[in-house]
Amino acid sequence: MRPFKYRRATDPSAAARFVTANPQAKFLAGGTNLLDLMKEDVERPSELVDLTRLKLTDIRATPGGVSIGALATNTDTANHPLIRRNYSLLTQAIVAGASGQLRNMATNGGNLLQRTRCQYFYDTAMPCNKREPGTGCGALEGLNRIHAIVGWSEKCVATYPGDMANALYALDAVVRVRDAAGRGRTIPIGEFHRLPADTPEQDNNLRHGELITAIELPKSNFATNSYYLKVRDRASYAFALVAVAAALELDGGTIRQSRVVLGGVAHKPWRSQEAEAALAGRPASEESFQRAAEAALKDAKPLVHNAFKVELAKRGIVRALMRASRLA
Ligand SMILES: Cc1cc2nc3c(=O)[nH]c(=O)nc-3n(C[C@H](O)[C@H](O)[C@H](O)COP(=O)(O)OP(=O)(O)OC[C@H]3O[C@@H](n4cnc5c(N)ncnc54)[C@H](O)[C@@H]3O)c2cc1C
Ligand code: SF4
Repeated sequence: MRPFKYRRATDPSAAARFVTANPQAKFLAGGTNLLDLMKEDVERPSELVDLTRLKLTDIRATPGGVSIGALATNTDTANHPLIRRNYSLLTQAIVAGASGQLRNMATNGGNLLQRTRCQYFYDTAMPCNKREPGTGCGALEGLNRIHAIVGWSEKCVATYPGDMANALYALDAVVRVRDAAGRGRTIPIGEFHRLPADTPEQDNNLRHGELITAIELPKSNFATNSYYLKVRDRASYAFALVAVAAALELDGGTIRQSRVVLGGVAHKPWRSQEAEAALAGRPASEESFQRAAEAALKDAKPLVHNAFKVELAKRGIVRALMRASRLA
């Protein structure tokens, strides 16, 4: 591991100031992703600004819904009564990820910013445009079984590996951030992560030095009928090959509105408005769900080793919607 300077921030303003002042500095939260990447020599910050003493751990009801602190752990978030009762999709997604020990350390802000699990990104002997822009993409012609089937570019075919963000997207969350000058802004979760296009080194739209302070969830009509499905190579402690966050607002047996967000298939959580349009006004039935699944994957472009993900995603959508509507 390379030497680095360590600082402990005591308030959000100082934290943002320290990182803004040094282009090579990074925030440190639970460290479960960043420290691994530093040990692999993939991330090389010259300075870490420790956020863990900041009082950004509240999970509380707001007039509009719920605010979740960026420094609250994944465990505390998943177990909180407000989340379990009103946003069970989020609880399901969080507990589908990592392991109990990791979730005890991992924070919500860090979870959103976890980096891809592409093997070539982790291997500094291999070309990777995300790690070193301009070197090429080892996965494009290499082993790309776990990679993207939608939204990828010739520059990068990686997927975003997180679970929590898929559920947050289905629940219309926004991410609250602030900069060193105290200016705040909110970013809808669907605009937080980026597609790779020509700049795969940028995973998201956060600016250097901007601190995530909270995630806000509006009141939701999807509390009753939602389901998070995660398909992976092992039953636990593994990232999604395909994940589906499915949420339905039902009027009797008819679908009023829905959210269908796929994980493990793109460089960002992938909301299928095609599937949602196919479901609107239709009866909650396996036939409607199959139609939605076909619509969601009609433009999929699999790579050499991951064509299986197209069928897996279709079946996943049907199964998640069946569970969400309690037909299975
Ligand atoms: C073996 C293993 C299995 C895993 N399996 C899964 C899984 O199945 N599903 C899943 O979703 N995740 C999984 N994870 C990922 C894990 O959930 C993330 O590592 C964790 O959520 C990151 O949170 P952290 O607080 O440790 O972040 P850190 O590692 O501390 O930071 C990650 C990044 O976020 C930045 N950052 C942190 N907080 C802030 C903030 N408030 N504002 C701005 N920037 C910030 C840091 O600078 C860094 O770049 C797994 C991890 C491991 C090691
Ligand atoms: S898919 Fe992206 S992260 Fe993986 S090797 Fe290619 S450029 Fe790097």
